[in-house]
Amino acid sequence: MCRSDWHGWMGHDPDITLPHVPGHELAGMVVEVGSNVDLWAMGDRVTVPFVAGCGRCEACRHGDEQVCADQFQPGFTAWGSFAEYVALRYADRNLVRVPEQISSATAALLGCRFATAYRGVVAQGRIRSGEWAAVHGCGGVGLAAVMIARACGAQVVAVDPDPSARTIARSLGAEVVIDGVDAADLANAIREITGGGPHLSLDAAGHPAAVAASVESLRTRGRHIQIGLLPANETAVPMSVVVGRELEILGSHGMQAHRYPEMMEMILDGRLQPQHLLTRTITLSEIPQALPEMGHAKEAGVAVVDRMGG
Ligand SMILES: [Zn+2]
Ligand SMILES: [Zn+2]
Repeated sequence: MCRSDWHGWMGHDPDITLPHVPGHELAGMVVEVGSNVDLWAMGDRVTVPFVAGCGRCEACRHGDEQVCADQFQPGFTAWGSFAEYVALRYADRNLVRVPEQISSATAALLGCRFATAYRGVVAQGRIRSGEWAAVHGCGGVGLAAVMIARACGAQVVAVDPDPSARTIARSLGAEVVIDGVDAADLANAIREITGGGPHLSLDAAGHPAAVAASVESLRTRGRHIQIGLLPANETAVPMSVVVGRELEILGSHGMQAHRYPEMMEMILDGRLQPQHLLTRTITLSEIPQALPEMGHAKEAGVAVVDRMGG
């Protein structure tokens, strides 16, 4: 379960038409293949990124399925995985084999927040060992970013107003955790902690104040990566700092299937342990209760549906 499922359920996603089945992070076993599927067979254990690319458009031809012009998103553009079976389009291009050492529950939490954080830190963020990274917002994607930046040898400052989220961030290896309530002081505090500003800073909170603090805090030629979604046209970016320090501002949106193997490699050898983000498992029949609860109770960590229930 992801907060995007809650947004969809609330009616915030124009892709969704009723009746609908949500659920966009999944792992399972292939039980049937369509006539155009060549690479997969019954019995294969697979997962899929939440954005599946068509394989034909310009972005896909460049290997950027995560920003496909005709993207398939289970649980948004079509019925999703809060179900016993789910149909996945563009399977040859987008399915990812799950190694037998990785449990289905762990594989199921890779498709949205974890892969997005991985791409944000590694591909878009180009993190290098010895650098400082700042992560604003320690929900699922922010905590994954903390873990991934640490695994890449970076030192991490994690920012979140919620003490329980900060505790988890610290347990995942964040060097320093701060509450970030006062955004004006926040940039200065981060610059001090990191000896002149982080090399990489990610906004996983999707908050205008976090964007401003993140950009203000960066050291010369630093990179700001925007992962959290923001209200349209209401975010002020301090552009004089962007010019004066030659900063980079990049968005990050999911991760294409062909970049999964390097991430799987890091999971297999234990450098990444996404299972630490899994806080509880629930039954499918508990979803109608659990989904509305996401509106008022923020969960530090991820809940995974691993059985049908009564
Ligand atoms: Zn495409
Ligand atoms: Zn999601």
